[in-house]
Amino acid sequence: MHYKHDYRYKEPAPIINKENPFQSMMARFDIAAELLELEEGVYEYLKTPQSQHIISIPIQMDSGKVEVFEGYRVIHNNILGPSKGGVRFAPDVDIEEVKALAAWMTWKCAVLGLPFGGAKGAVKCDPTKLTMIELEKITRRYTANLLDVFGPENDIPAPDMGTNEQTMAWIMDTYSMHVRRTENAVVTGKPLILGGSLGRREATGRGVMIVTLSAMQQLGIPIQNSKIVVQGFGNVGSISAQLLKEQGCTIIAISDISGGHYNKNGINIEAAMEWVKNNKSLEGFPETENITQEELLELECDVLVPAAKEDQITEDNAGKIKAKIISEGANGPTMSSADPILNDKGILVIPDILANAGGVTVSYFEWVQNRLGFAWTLNRVNTRLERMMKESFSLVFDVSKKYNQPLRIGAYIVAIDKVAKTLKIRGIYG
Ligand code: NAD
Repeated sequence: MHYKHDYRYKEPAPIINKENPFQSMMARFDIAAELLELEEGVYEYLKTPQSQHIISIPIQMDSGKVEVFEGYRVIHNNILGPSKGGVRFAPDVDIEEVKALAAWMTWKCAVLGLPFGGAKGAVKCDPTKLTMIELEKITRRYTANLLDVFGPENDIPAPDMGTNEQTMAWIMDTYSMHVRRTENAVVTGKPLILGGSLGRREATGRGVMIVTLSAMQQLGIPIQNSKIVVQGFGNVGSISAQLLKEQGCTIIAISDISGGHYNKNGINIEAAMEWVKNNKSLEGFPETENITQEELLELECDVLVPAAKEDQITEDNAGKIKAKIISEGANGPTMSSADPILNDKGILVIPDILANAGGVTVSYFEWVQNRLGFAWTLNRVNTRLERMMKESFSLVFDVSKKYNQPLRIGAYIVAIDKVAKTLKIRGIYG
């Protein structure tokens, strides 16, 4: 078995979810579908992915050996428009996870009123153990195998876990070579020089900031000196913290994989970002008290922003959370079993499909700019993002009130209703 790279899988892959993403999504989907009295056939239709592609990706490794990777692309549906969704490179990903994430994208795009359906892609590989040359070969072969699926009018990938701007540049170039023209609208999250959008990097954190302020306004919590706790200090967490601080909030605690940091007088977020740039993590960051991840989640505060990973708020710790608002920067940070506990405590949860949708919204702007051949100013991007996030928050808030449901179910109702109504008007071909 000389061609099997056993070393790649020596360490067991981390468990992505205690609650798998499909269960987590379906638990909420089912509540909303029932409230909407969705016909059984439509329920089945919306639950079922439109197409699922499993491809093999043979590449010659730097060692000269040939190795075969498995790749996936799932189109959940394209009822509202071309499907949109990231591509993740991870050693433990499988088709079930990709199916759930594709459906999640359908609801996220629908909540924000974007003219996109939902999709997701993946390659089962560990990008930390591959060279740039190997990663480029995997990306190009993955793209070539999915040429008939991808396209600016068909299906538009974006970065996700384990992929980045460079991956998008390779996808764009491979696609462009095959169609014999430069087609930058085939991916979003590209480098600026290839037609990426200004403001894309900060978009998810900016969206979190905008909906958090809207929620505080609804609850009558003064923004100045409000106390914010942020879990996770990567792209989403650090930018959310920075922008909320700019608005006058006090960030009393932050954390990353190395642990938590607390300062009741407020943390200097710019200094923390600089620290991470120089030291790779928050470990050793001065002028703060070290706290555990558990302590951080249970701090007395106005807003908790979980922006690290899934399944952080569980039925075990939900009862101990003292925040008035939870603004879900991460995807799936709250297990469905924790939802009723948070609800009973009167905590307002801004659900992931709304709170972190700023990223896909600016991806939409990037696609629009590429198709126009005209780049927007940063001001135009941020103004339009703010307007769309605020409008979506108000819509979800009103629908939740109407159905007497938490915002999460309100968001699912908005999304499912929109897709189901569009489906009804289009009709079912066949
Ligand atoms: P990232 O890799 O830039 O940052 C993740 C951060 O979380 C890092 O600081 C890491 O150290 C920290 N972390 C990991 N495990 C942790 C733990 N157990 N406790 C505390 N901190 C921990 O990732 P990101 O792009 O900021 O994404 C974070 C979340 O937001 C993910 O759920 C992602 O799916 C979601 N999201 C990201 C975007 C985007 O545009 N980047 C858009 C929508 C949703």
